Amino acid sequence: MGSMPESSSDMKVLVVGAGFGGLTAAIECRKRGMSVTLFESSKERRQLGDIISFGSNSGRIFRSWPGVEDELDPVCHHSDGLTFRAFDDDFLCRQIWDAEADWGKRFNGHRGEIHDIVWRHALSIGVEIRLGSKVQEYFETDTEAGVVVNGERISADAVLAADGVRSLARTIVLGFEDKPKSSGYAVYRSWMGTEKLKENPLTAWLADPTIDHHVGWLGPDVHFLVATLQKGTACSWVLTHKDEADVEESWSAPGYVEDAVKTVDGWAPIVHAIIRATPPESLVDWKLVFRDPLPTWVSPKRRIALMGDAAHPFLPTSIQGASQSMEDGVTAAICLELGGKNNVQEGLRAYEKIRYPRVLATQRMGVTNRDNWHKADFNEVKKNPEMVKLPRQDWVLNFDCSKHAYDVYNETVESLRKDPSWKPNPVLESEEYAYAK
Ligand SMILES: Cc1cc2nc3c(=O)[nH]c(=O)nc-3n(C[C@H](O)[C@H](O)[C@H](O)COP(=O)(O)OP(=O)(O)OC[C@H]3O[C@@H](n4cnc5c(N)ncnc54)[C@H](O)[C@@H]3O)c2cc1C
Repeated sequence: MGSMPESSSDMKVLVVGAGFGGLTAAIECRKRGMSVTLFESSKERRQLGDIISFGSNSGRIFRSWPGVEDELDPVCHHSDGLTFRAFDDDFLCRQIWDAEADWGKRFNGHRGEIHDIVWRHALSIGVEIRLGSKVQEYFETDTEAGVVVNGERISADAVLAADGVRSLARTIVLGFEDKPKSSGYAVYRSWMGTEKLKENPLTAWLADPTIDHHVGWLGPDVHFLVATLQKGTACSWVLTHKDEADVEESWSAPGYVEDAVKTVDGWAPIVHAIIRATPPESLVDWKLVFRDPLPTWVSPKRRIALMGDAAHPFLPTSIQGASQSMEDGVTAAICLELGGKNNVQEGLRAYEKIRYPRVLATQRMGVTNRDNWHKADFNEVKKNPEMVKLPRQDWVLNFDCSKHAYDVYNETVESLRKDPSWKPNPVLESEEYAYAK
């Protein structure tokens, strides 16, 4: 960590949304001495969601928080690779992660369980978390920014808005409400115990207490990924399929086993057996939406910044949504620290300029990866199975966002001083993105 400007410790920051983006921002600001209040609309702590993946780029953030890695290890998935099979269960190839060992550690597990560990860490270092606090309004002047919560007006030096895909802050920052677009795909997702899998000879091997399994079955325009963890007691699967239904971004929309089975008509019996072993209440149908890259993440008076899904929702096939939201949180905290209380506006613009091109480039990977699986010609795949392997880019995963922010902050601020009217250019930024070369 760089030397802390004196003004950092008397800085007050409000964070909105206690997902991984908001919690990371709050922890990183707090550990730099700022006073932090985090507002979360949910009334109670519930372990929501199913499997979530953190690459080694965000794994290093978890590991920098004392005690967190030790708590994550027992609940996370541990396997050395991913086995690909065709829809008819023909073995295609196995992708081993050993080449990435030097890049750091990945953490994949139940979103609710991982979230609980991070939540408790935030509390332990003095982040004030207010549950049942739905932000109704944002405001800013040249000297402060704030929120209205349960009728109370609260102000601070800066507001970091990590309020998710349906962000209210986004409307304030942009001055208009941007609408999501259907991506043409949806995902059935499940997290379940392995009792039923054990009963079926086709699937019993998935409940092996000695080894975690990770298998992907691929077919025309559909992919089905299965992971087991926690000594063979838990299993999570995701099934991405074409879907032109109305856009509804919800983690709680129920899914139906019979509908899920129809999307894999003609596939191998084992795929059907896994889906049919799913308790109905454990199945979610989640629509995947796109949003055009936002013209900016920072409000007109530059005291409110968007982060995480509020700024840039990801397709799951990028396997980077949660990781990038955490990188946002770290970078914003460092920019506020280095800018200090008197340069909050410059700090938040630097945050935007540092993060924007990297996020855009990783977002694009989601589309490329999905199309690599979904648009593949399966005659070709069987001749050349290696083509289904996930690209694992060094520039995405072998990246220390904290070091990067400290390294480039001064030059970023200087460039903004020279060009005060700078705004991100979504097309240019992604094409010229240096790391992606
Ligand atoms: C309930 C839920 C379950 C999920 N499950 C999975 C999963 O299983 N697998 C996966 O890969 N990804 C899952 N995600 C998405 C994933 O967590 C995010 O894509 C990623 O981690 C980026 O997080 P974020 O902090 O930007 O946004 P989110 O994780 O969406 O967090 C946003 C937070 O802001 C809160 N909020 C929204 N509006 C307000 C407001 N006005 N005032 C106060 N608080 C507000 C929300 O309640 C939420 O807690 C889930 C998200 C949610 C909300």
